[in-house]
Amino acid sequence: MNLFRLIIISLAIWIAIRIWQNYRAKTKKMPPSSKAQQAIPDMVECVVCKMHIPENEALRKGDKIYCSQQHLEADN
Ligand SMILES: [Zn+2]
Repeated sequence: MNLFRLIIISLAIWIAIRIWQNYRAKTKKMPPSSKAQQAIPDMVECVVCKMHIPENEALRKGDKIYCSQQHLEADN
């Protein structure tokens, strides 16, 4: 029965750690700073693979948006 007890105890400790980490993560994220929101660039969609990429990394041809040079060339 000792092993069973050990498993229960370690499980309890693990759950306690998880709850504590969850609580810490939540309190950390609580104040949504406007600075962080500005840092996220607008996401655009590649017309070939539908992948979402930051606008500043996107390639453009006309009004179409591509994720990479290969997809720009593939879509003719
Ligand atoms: Zn693509």
